Amino acid sequence: MPLGKDYAGQQCSLARALEIVGERWTLLILRDAFFGVRRFGDFAAHLNIPRAVLSDRLSSLTEAGVLARADGGHGHPEYVLTSKGLPLWPAIRTLLTWGDEHYSDRGPRRVFRHEPDDGLVSPAGICDACGQDVLVSDLLVAPGPGLVSPPATDPVSQALQTPHRLLEPLNTAIRLRSPREFIDRTNEGG
Ligand SMILES: [Zn+2]
Repeated sequence: MPLGKDYAGQQCSLARALEIVGERWTLLILRDAFFGVRRFGDFAAHLNIPRAVLSDRLSSLTEAGVLARADGGHGHPEYVLTSKGLPLWPAIRTLLTWGDEHYSDRGPRRVFRHEPDDGLVSPAGICDACGQDVLVSDLLVAPGPGLVSPPATDPVSQALQTPHRLLEPLNTAIRLRSPREFIDRTNEGG
């Protein structure tokens, strides 16, 4: 029998939070939403998960009010973080940092910069250039030294090869570069 999602009998609010965000794949879906992924097909391609699982997780998150479903035009729904979902960013950033520290020998796989001054933003959200506590919407996510190259060929991994402002829709319509081309370009760039 599959495990249920609830922690009946647990009085802690952590149990309530985990009932919403603690299922397998859910935090990765939310990370992608912060990175600007909005469309079902882009989540599916980047995460490489069964469509039924993705559909279930998106429904649960929408039902819980963490994501909202919007009309993305051309009959494609889009999923965007709500005011209830946005405060989850520090939790995701903390887990990312913890993962980098313990499981990424070559350093962070992604780094975060302050959009106006390009300062490096600490895991606590402080910019090393201006000292500000940086809003999520002013963060750029950029490849870090621990990121594997060449990147995966899905459109989301490709689009995240260049710095991207969090929450802004990721342009996944860019031309797909093959891994071969990526290597050539990397060599050209020295
Ligand atoms: Zn700054």
